Amino acid sequence: MTIDNFKFAGKKAIVRVDFNVPLDENGKITDDTRIRGALPTLKKILADGGSLIIMSHMGKPKKNPDMKFSLSQIVDAVSEKLGVKVQFAPDCMKADDAAKALKPGEALLLENLRFYAEEEGKPRGLADDASDEEKTAAKKDIKAKQQEFAKHLASYADCYVNDAFGTAHRAHASTAVIADSFDKDHKMLGYLMEKEVKAVNSILSDIKRPFTAIMGGSKVSTKIGIIENLLGKVDNLILCGGMTYTFAKAQGGKIGKSICEDDKLDIALDIIKKAKEQNVNLVLGTDCVAADDFKNDANTQICSSNDIPDGWEGLDIGPETEKAFAAAIENAKTILWNGPAGVFEMDNFAKGSKAIADAIAKATANGAFSLIGGGDSVACINKFGMADQVSYISTGGGALLEAIEGKVLPGIAAIEK
Ligand code: AMP
Repeated sequence: MTIDNFKFAGKKAIVRVDFNVPLDENGKITDDTRIRGALPTLKKILADGGSLIIMSHMGKPKKNPDMKFSLSQIVDAVSEKLGVKVQFAPDCMKADDAAKALKPGEALLLENLRFYAEEEGKPRGLADDASDEEKTAAKKDIKAKQQEFAKHLASYADCYVNDAFGTAHRAHASTAVIADSFDKDHKMLGYLMEKEVKAVNSILSDIKRPFTAIMGGSKVSTKIGIIENLLGKVDNLILCGGMTYTFAKAQGGKIGKSICEDDKLDIALDIIKKAKEQNVNLVLGTDCVAADDFKNDANTQICSSNDIPDGWEGLDIGPETEKAFAAAIENAKTILWNGPAGVFEMDNFAKGSKAIADAIAKATANGAFSLIGGGDSVACINKFGMADQVSYISTGGGALLEAIEGKVLPGIAAIEK
């Protein structure tokens, strides 16, 4: 079923969205991209005369309740953006009456699903010294409870819509298990999901070349899978951010106190070798902005990425690297960017990421398809006010990367089966 074909009039739809938005210390939303992303789906259902049961997770709560992660903090913002007064169910498992009472055009937001361990299906509170048998029993127990939890959520509604791309790579109760309670005619992807799937397909099939991928961020370890996978697809692979120094050290460089994963040096060398074998132009930073402290106002100097003085750490790419990256980006026809080039949260180390954003904007203006994904690169693009100068900004981090790796996302598979 598709969202455009389903007749929502008089029906209750339970919609999984990704309202895992960043909040400041006063509980105010600092970036509402994810809420805005789900609005077309939510508005369409209300406009058709359906009613909404909206569900999401926020953060990583470890107990029930954990008010720091309460979705009650965003009800007013959601009401304002949706244009209806959204009701709130303070316990997602005790919303039966509120859901039953919903009239066409009305909306109810459930409290954070992850207050319950059942949502993720992972045991909580296991003693550190638990035996293997105890661990296995706890896992089995939570999986059984997860089924019940998902069935309970499903009982609130006539149909299920998944519009949470950010969690589509997780087989959680609300993203996958719940779909088993609905037949094919009563479950569907929301508009945001449809758009994300289309954007991924533009990268996976019908690639316009040259294809340049820029992978940054703090660590190699979290990105090995996607990097190896991209080697088979791209013409240029730019690696930047903190992982630069693992590569520099692996090649015998001096990296001072820069971030480095010593247990990944072999992998770094292997990636360099594979890039050569597969004729991929691997572009690594050659110079960097080194700082004597992890602070915005630290002393800085430009130095070679493989000759950083003791006590100094590379926190951004240098001017020579900016130029090399721009050259590999500006002539590209397909661009994927995940992860910043430096510690962009501090203004003095955001210049390299800005240079990447500028080059992407230039290529996009020249007709390239540019896809930006992953919380930090999106935060970067928003910080520079350049969101409208790229082709598509994905709401997914891990989900986007897994989809581009060619993995079937459980959240999408559950709708299709
Ligand atoms: P990730 O979550 O792996 O995509 O990493 C994003 C984080 O990497 C951001 O918070 C950046 O501040 C950080 N980062 C980027 N470059 C560096 C660097 N050279 N040293 C330390 N952290 C970095």
